[in-house]
Amino acid sequence: MSDTLLLNSNYEPISVLPLSVINWQHAIKLMYLGRVHVLETYPNWIVHSERLAINVPSVCVTRDYFHYKQHVKFSRYNLYMRDLFKCQYCDDVFDYEELTIDHVVPRMHGGKTNWLNCVTSCKSCNFKKGSNVNVKPRIKPYRPDYYSLVNKWKSMPFTVKQDSWNQYLGLNKQIA
Ligand SMILES: [Zn+2]
Repeated sequence: MSDTLLLNSNYEPISVLPLSVINWQHAIKLMYLGRVHVLETYPNWIVHSERLAINVPSVCVTRDYFHYKQHVKFSRYNLYMRDLFKCQYCDDVFDYEELTIDHVVPRMHGGKTNWLNCVTSCKSCNFKKGSNVNVKPRIKPYRPDYYSLVNKWKSMPFTVKQDSWNQYLGLNKQIA
């Protein structure tokens, strides 16, 4: 599980897609190594070592600026985000669980699983389409740039593990 939000030394998340979170054991290790400062802890979550009681960090900041390569990783979540959780065949919006990755050129015809050959599709459109290559999606698949994807992410309602994280995520609207 990922419990601790890791911020860069400029107090912005090191990455948001995926969000830079680490598990608490890792966070405590980095804290002892002097690599991060703890900004916030979980008030009611204390772990014990042999001699110490430690509040589990909820937000940490790296001491040195971390140069994160801002390329956009292909993932199911990021693909749905690029397409705003909209099926690219029927144009309806669906929940994560109701969506699938559609290969525009089907895998059986050599289609790859990447930004340029995949779109978001609801289960029923994907099933109806099958391996019919004549059914075309509404958009031509493309590789999104990091900042456009981050902006889409910021405009969507979502939940984070801790309310206090929102202030670091640069969100300018109320979370649903
Ligand atoms: Zn659909």
